Amino acid sequence: MIGAKSADNAVLETEREDYMLQPIIGYYKDEQGHWVAKLSCHHNQHVRHQPPFINRPWVTTPEGRNSKLGFELNCVKCERKAPKDF
Ligand SMILES: [Zn+2]
Repeated sequence: MIGAKSADNAVLETEREDYMLQPIIGYYKDEQGHWVAKLSCHHNQHVRHQPPFINRPWVTTPEGRNSKLGFELNCVKCERKAPKDF
């Protein structure tokens, strides 16, 4: 049998990253003055602005933080099945 070529076009499902994306629902500042995002899964996640390694200039202004409400972050704590932070 010649002519069965469709297998070459198989979808590469393995390329998909299995992230636990959770939207931001709020923020607070920790004791060191770092901004922490509160995620809808009840986990906290630091959203530091530490150039040049971590560039999140939006966390430094109220407008920027507001614009990121609902933005989805990968929640490592969900992946680890960590207890809720709040
Ligand atoms: Zn989480």
